[in-house]
Amino acid sequence: MGMKVLLVITHNGQRIDDQVFNTVTACLSLGDTFDAVVMGYDCEVVANMACQLPGVNQVHMVLNEALQHAMAESSAEALLQVIEGYDYVVFPWNTTAKNILPRLAVLKDISPITDVCEIVDAQVFKRPIYAGNIIETVRSSQAVQMLSIRAASFSKAVLLAQAQGQIHAVSVSLSATQSRYVNATISQSDRPDLSAAKIVVSGGRGLGNRESFSLIYQLADQLGAAVGASRAAVDAGFVSNDFQVGQTGKIIAPDVYVAIGISGAIQHIAGMKDSRVIIAINKDADAPIFQYCDYGLVGDLFTVLPQIQQHLQSSR
Ligand code: FAD
Repeated sequence: MGMKVLLVITHNGQRIDDQVFNTVTACLSLGDTFDAVVMGYDCEVVANMACQLPGVNQVHMVLNEALQHAMAESSAEALLQVIEGYDYVVFPWNTTAKNILPRLAVLKDISPITDVCEIVDAQVFKRPIYAGNIIETVRSSQAVQMLSIRAASFSKAVLLAQAQGQIHAVSVSLSATQSRYVNATISQSDRPDLSAAKIVVSGGRGLGNRESFSLIYQLADQLGAAVGASRAAVDAGFVSNDFQVGQTGKIIAPDVYVAIGISGAIQHIAGMKDSRVIIAINKDADAPIFQYCDYGLVGDLFTVLPQIQQHLQSSR
C-alpha cells in the first residue's frame, strides 16, 4: 500500500510560502501523490492555489478565526485533528513551521526529523548538524514521520496551469489558549525577499559602519538583488537581524551570492554554501571565503565597489 503523505502549506494569507514549492518535490519522492493542508482564515485563495500543486490529491482547508495568524498553539491543535491516518507529515523548514512543528510533535509524542536535506528511502533521511559541518543519516522506525525540508536542497515544483487537487473543507474545534495575537511589525521592502531572491549581495564587518553599508544596497539595487549580512554586521548594528545569513540566520541558495567584506566563518558558510555561484570580495587574500567562492576578487571594497557600480551603470 502506498504511503500517505500530508504536506503542511505555510502561507501569508494570500500566497503560498516559497519554500513550500521545494517541499512539494520532497513529498513527491515519498509517494506519487500527496494531500495538503491549508490552515488560516479567509484564505480560500491559498487553498485554491494549492490545488494546482503537481501531485496533490486532496487539499484540507481548515478555516477558523483562531488560525488567522498561524499561532503555534491553535495551529498544532488543528493539525492534530487532520493528520490522523497519514504516514508522513511534511513541513517546509521556515519560521512558521519552526514554531508549529515542535509543538505538534510533542502532542503526538513523536521525534520530528528537521531540516532534511536528502530523503534516502522511506525511513532514512539526511540532515545537517554542527552548522552543516556534518551530515547526519537518521533511520526512523516511528509509525508516523514528521519531517521538515530544507528548501535549498530540493528543486522547486511549479504550479500546474489547471487545478488537479480537490478542496476538502474541515472544521476543527479549538480550545482557547493562553496566548493571543497582538500585532506583527513586518518590515517592508521593495527589494526581493532574502529567502527567495535569485541574487543576494551580502555585506560583512568589512563595511566598517552603517553608513558605508549603503554601498551594499546600491549594488543590490543595480543587480535587482536582495541584501544579506554576516552576523558581525548585524551585531555591529549595520542592519537588522532579519538580514542575517548563516547558521543562526537564514539558510539560502540563490543563483548568485556575493559576499563583500565577509571573512567566511563556518557559521556564515552554513547559510550560503549551496548557492549556485559564489563571488567574494575581500582585501585579505587568505580570507577563508576564498576557499568557497567560484570567483574571488582580492581588493579593498571601497575602491572596488564604486568601480563595479560604474561599470554596471555604463553597460546598461
Ligand atoms: P569578520 O570575520 O571580522 O570579517 C570581516 C572581513 O572583511 C575580513 O575578512 C576582512 O579581511 C574584510 N575586510 C575588512 N575591510 C575590508 C575592505 N576595506 N575591503 C574588503 N574587505 C575588507 N555569522 C554569520 O555570518 N551568520 C550566522 O548565522 C552566525 N551564527 C553564529 C552562531 C554561533 C553559535 C557563533 C559562535 C557564531 C556565529 N556567527 C555567525 C559568527 C561567525 O563566527 C563570524 O564571527 C561572523 O560570520 C564574522 O562576520 P564577518 O565575516 O562580517 O566579520
